Amino acid sequence: MASVEERNAIREAVRKICADFPDQYWRDIDKAGDYPQMFVDALTASGYLGCLIPEEYGGAGLGMAEAAIILEEINRSPGNGLACHAQMYTMGTLLRHGSAEQKQRYLPGIASGEIRLQAFGVTEPNAGSESTRIETRAERKGDKYIVNGQKIFISRVKQSDLMLLLARTTPYNELTDKTQGLSVFILDLRDIKGRFEVQPLDMMFNYHTNILFFENVEIPVENRIGEEGKGFRYIIDGWNAERILIASEAIGDGRWFVDKGTKYASERVVFGKPIGANQGVQFPLAKAYAHVEAAACMRDVAAAKFDAGEKCGAEANMAKLLASEASWEAANACLDAHGGYGFTREFDVERKFRETRLFMTAPINNNLVLAFLGQNVLGMPKSY
Ligand SMILES: Cc1cc2nc3c(=O)[nH]c(=O)nc-3n(C[C@H](O)[C@H](O)[C@H](O)COP(=O)(O)OP(=O)(O)OC[C@H]3O[C@@H](n4cnc5c(N)ncnc54)[C@H](O)[C@@H]3O)c2cc1C
Repeated sequence: MASVEERNAIREAVRKICADFPDQYWRDIDKAGDYPQMFVDALTASGYLGCLIPEEYGGAGLGMAEAAIILEEINRSPGNGLACHAQMYTMGTLLRHGSAEQKQRYLPGIASGEIRLQAFGVTEPNAGSESTRIETRAERKGDKYIVNGQKIFISRVKQSDLMLLLARTTPYNELTDKTQGLSVFILDLRDIKGRFEVQPLDMMFNYHTNILFFENVEIPVENRIGEEGKGFRYIIDGWNAERILIASEAIGDGRWFVDKGTKYASERVVFGKPIGANQGVQFPLAKAYAHVEAAACMRDVAAAKFDAGEKCGAEANMAKLLASEASWEAANACLDAHGGYGFTREFDVERKFRETRLFMTAPINNNLVLAFLGQNVLGMPKSY
């Protein structure tokens, strides 16, 4: 576990990297719909993208608490970790459930940045949040699986060398346990055999998300992670990490909004005094600040439990819920404080406003987080 001094040093180092990518960089990237390659390169070179990869595979071997600091600081800057955060946690499935040979084959390259594992293919149009209903089929033929189907909202496929793919290996109607029958594969996007089409989606903000079509795409058996049919379990194992890291990005955004709104409200003079002297402007910012900091406390508890190897599903889910709501509250308070200027691109509030809204919806909707808490933690009857 890193000491307080080491964590502060990580925070400072990430701030320093982010300082090289000021408002204008992100504004231009957003306007052009570009991928922030220079930023991702700088982060990769720093080793922070590989922070969760153990040292024996060339990673930094840090814990969840440190990974949380890294993503939080990126979002506290004008930037956004969404462009590359999956590189941090997607490899967890490989690390926990991959064979020794698979780990040796991929992890050192992912740690050095030579291999990009940014894409994660689960969601499908006919399944949505009910992932156990996915239909994309992987049929075993000798030493290969043949994949046919469709995925939607799969991000960073064009910025990835590998994609983690969840596909059906047993038909749904042949199962007694609906969480079985799905398998996880490493799809090498650099060497696709079969027809694989990537159709970019035009989204509310600059996010590189796609519809995917698979037609007889071949995946060698040696690229299946773990046992056939157990893939859903392997994916679920990564959800707590994902929730904690998403919460951290939302906390970073929330702090950015509170800082930006507070500064503006203290400087902007209307009716002869700073607008922040009015409680109608001051209190929403103060309230959002309290909620962001409370969410950070819950995130810290979740990360500490995760790093100690303790059960942390409740805390990780609460952190994601509280942080995404708090960042949205802060976004609205900040936008309101800016008046009409909040809507102009040069203030960056509208861009961050669009970006931070995602956290209440993806990677999992807060409704389903509440369902988890209500059903699995509080023991109330199930809605699904
Ligand atoms: C920008 C972006 C990037 C994404 N990137 C990826 C990616 O890289 N890989 C990937 O696999 N997926 C990705 N996703 C998909 C995301 O995880 C899905 O949007 C999500 O799983 C929900 O599926 P859906 O959109 O079909 O919503 P639906 O499942 O159709 O849900 C619609 C609404 O109904 C609500 N709802 C459904 N069932 C219940 C219930 N039982 N109780 C209460 N409410 C319910 C939901 O909460 C939601 O509000 C991304 C999505 C976005 C927007």
